[in-house]
Amino acid sequence: MSTAKAFAAPSATDALAAANIERREVGPNDIEIDIEYCGVCHSDLHTARNEWDVVPTVYPCVPGHEIVGRVSKVGNKVTNFREGDLAAVGCLVGSCRECASCKDGLEQYCDNNAGVFTYNSPDPHGTAPVTYGGYSERIVVDQHFVLNVPKNLDPAGTAPLLCAGITLYSPLKHWKAGPGKKVGIVGLGGLGHMGVKFSHAFGAETALFTRSDSKVADAKKLGADHVIISKDEAQMEAHTRSFDLIISTVAASHDINPYISLLKRDGTMVLVGIPEHPHKPISVFNIAFPRRSLAGSGIGGIKETQEMLNYCGEHNITSDIEMIPIQKINEAYSRMLEGDVKYRFVIDMKSLKQ
Ligand code: NAP
Ligand code: ZN
Ligand code: ZN
Repeated sequence: MSTAKAFAAPSATDALAAANIERREVGPNDIEIDIEYCGVCHSDLHTARNEWDVVPTVYPCVPGHEIVGRVSKVGNKVTNFREGDLAAVGCLVGSCRECASCKDGLEQYCDNNAGVFTYNSPDPHGTAPVTYGGYSERIVVDQHFVLNVPKNLDPAGTAPLLCAGITLYSPLKHWKAGPGKKVGIVGLGGLGHMGVKFSHAFGAETALFTRSDSKVADAKKLGADHVIISKDEAQMEAHTRSFDLIISTVAASHDINPYISLLKRDGTMVLVGIPEHPHKPISVFNIAFPRRSLAGSGIGGIKETQEMLNYCGEHNITSDIEMIPIQKINEAYSRMLEGDVKYRFVIDMKSLKQ
């Protein structure tokens, strides 16, 4: 084992602060990565503050699952990476690899419930009680879960693709967003801005729903054909029964019934935002007539994450970011809660060495 510098939440109520963690020795199939950039996801905040009762947080908690860095060591069975290569790690670092979902490349839905998430999952290697994420100087990951970064992409802007990017790419692909389809994205934050970019790139007629007038111009620049202020009933009603697909990225509980009303017959509302508290009850009538679907989606498997990165390389897509030193992480969390980020914070991990 070796000691690495990190930033950790000591409890649900304490600010994140410098800490030391242990990383395992590099095994035959392992890749050690010196982390250069780590995106800041709203899930980091939910986890640091123990907001999800389904997955209670074990402290200290080291968040971070949008990781880009340089390979510093490889095990003797590693085939795809060499020392010095740029490499990325997202939300997953392990799974059973044998069940139907894992074999289908959908490790995030592992049927044996053996998916190991990058932070706050029981650590199968026993290095620590739980896995520790990317707010740290390095990480050791099995080669199956390490992704290639297209050379033309800015590494810092690539980091958020590893969660925010794939979390929108996957449902947009699954529900076939493309020419002739009308797609709505709810919330212009980290996930939402990637949703607008991908939906537009896939050729769908794209609408962005936001609470904020101040985001209208940006949403159009990102590729939205329509920007709908969600608290304006007239603007909402103008789009009644017109959407094939609406994806909500909202990080807080709210009323999703007004969005369901905007779906066509056979349209689908997909929830990817995972708030601390339940949404307002859903009108079953509104789902039954006219045969609408309510669905959810979680990140994406390793194969699809690589496909998404390659797509971004080909189409020159990265996240719009604001770079911060790790010492500003608590301020970044406060600003994220206020919706004050355009549109993803990325930590420059050099700052951890200061
Ligand atoms: P974020 O950057 O904070 O964006 C969330 C957006 O939601 C905000 O920008 C805001 O958009 C909107 N919003 C926030 N509070 C709201 C409220 N009270 N009512 C209505 N809208 C509100 O967060 P993120 O990193 O994109 O993550 C979003 C959610 O997705 C989080 O819950 C996160 O945990 C979850 N997540 C899920 C997955 C998955 O696999 N399913 C993966 C990653 C993240 P406007 O200001 O434009 O209204
Ligand atoms: Zn995330
Ligand atoms: Zn499995």
